[in-house]
This record gives sequence, structure tokens and C-alpha cells, in this order.
Amino acid sequence: MDRVHSDQSDQLANKSTGEPASAEVLGVRVDCLTMAEAVDCCMRFLKTAGHHQVVTVNPEFVMLAQHDAPFRSAIRNASLVVPDGAGIVWAMRRQGFVDAERVTGIDLMQALCVRAAQEQVPVFLLGAAPGIAVKAAAILQQEIPDLTVAGTAVGSPDPKHAAGLCAQIRESGAGILFVAFGCPAQDFWIQQYQEETGARLAIGVGGSFDYISGAVTRAPLWVRGMNLEWCYRLFRQPWRWRRQLTLIPYVWKILREKPRH
Ligand code: UDP
Repeated sequence: MDRVHSDQSDQLANKSTGEPASAEVLGVRVDCLTMAEAVDCCMRFLKTAGHHQVVTVNPEFVMLAQHDAPFRSAIRNASLVVPDGAGIVWAMRRQGFVDAERVTGIDLMQALCVRAAQEQVPVFLLGAAPGIAVKAAAILQQEIPDLTVAGTAVGSPDPKHAAGLCAQIRESGAGILFVAFGCPAQDFWIQQYQEETGARLAIGVGGSFDYISGAVTRAPLWVRGMNLEWCYRLFRQPWRWRRQLTLIPYVWKILREKPRH
């Protein structure tokens, strides 16, 4: 995988080169760029050699990475790591990355579909429960008539299905692959199999197909504006409480770090 750049701490220096700066949130790399910059960066990846992985990081990822070195390294080696969660943006701003903003998997996916349609890049939707990816694809095609969805597959991150899925994606000719297996399975799957799929760009998008298909309702804009989307998700999907408990040690650890301004 080609990285945008290696570890950097001087945001201004990176701004001058035009490359996004990276923050370290509890040892996990996160790039600082706006949604528009992330989309441009992804579209550039499609024109450069190699296979590019994008990771959309939230506090759950960071806490998991604390004791999962392979996951931490998968994130570090990705081409782009965007701040998906409000908790990540908060931590980045405390470090002086005042321009940090949320770049969520679902927003990035939708914006990339618009650009993919303009530039005639076929996309592939892999993952989620049976029927969800097909429905999400139909809705995307309805909203973005020029979009080519090269294929969808339910599948699972289980390695025994990988050969068949990779062959299906490769034969579809997809340039962009969206993978919805949840974290960290989707990110490991991409790391391991992206090259075999032939897709130049692959992104782990979590529950995005569930939202696009309408199977799960996304928080209203005003809730997102208040950085409370996590709270809304907990309200709609109470089974998330155990996963979201990780927010408590996350906040505690971030508060213990000295803020940089
Ligand atoms: N999923 C899947 N196969 C699996 C496990 C999960 O396709 O073996 C899907 C699940 O149906 C959901 C997505 O992965 O669509 C994970 O969504 P979640 O909301 O947990 O991800 P988040 O947005 O929190 O990262």
C-alpha cells in the first residue's frame, strides 16, 4: 500500500506541501483533511499506481488498536485514514489540528459515488446482511443515474469465501470497492485481499449500506451538528452499549494527554 506520507507532526509544514498532516490519536494515525480534500485524494489514488486502502477511524477503532498491534499497523499502512467519529475530531483539535472535521464513511462513500459517476469508475458493494447491498446499490443508482454499480455481494469476512469474492470483484472490473463487514474485519479483509480484487481503491464503510438502503435510520442533521450521532445510534441500536462503553476510557485517556495549541 502506498501511504500519502510518513508520520508528521507539523501541521503547517504539511499544509505547505499540499499533503494532509497526520495526527496521532493515542498512537493511531489519523489524517487531517476536509471531506472535499478526502474525495480529491481518493480520486487521485485511482490514477496512481498500486492499490489504496482508506480507513475511517472512530474512537472504537482507536481503543481496539491499543491492544491489537496488527490492527494498528493496518491503519498506519493505509493510504488514507480519515476521522469518522466526533471523538476523533475532538482529540485532533486538542492537539492543535484546528481544521479537523468529520469525514464519515457514509458521506465519503456517497461523495465518491458522485465522482465515480462523473469519471466513469465502476463501484462494487461488498458486505452487510442479505438484500442490503442490492437495495443500497439500487438507491444509489436512482440518486446518481450515471453511476455504474459493477456488482454487489453479501459474503462474509471468513477467509474461506475470499477467493470467490475476489474473483467476482475482479471480473466486475470495479475501480472502487466499498466493504461493509464492520471494524476491524473489513479493514483486515481489504488489507489482505484488495490486490486480488483488482480494485484500485477500497474503503471499509461499516454500517453505510444499512443507512443508504434505509434499513437503519441515520441521525438527523441537527443531531450530527451537535456531535451526538453516537448517542442517536445508541438510542436506535441499544445493543451497541457494550461497544460504546469504550468511549469512557477513550475520553479519559485523551483528557490525560496535555492539549497542544
Ligand atoms: N457485517 C457483515 N458480515 C459480518 C459482520 C458484519 O456483512 O460478518 C455487516 C453488518 O451487517 C453491517 C456492517 O457489517 O452492515 C457493520 O456495521 P456496524 O454498524 O457494526 O459498523 P460501524 O458503522 O459501527 O463501523
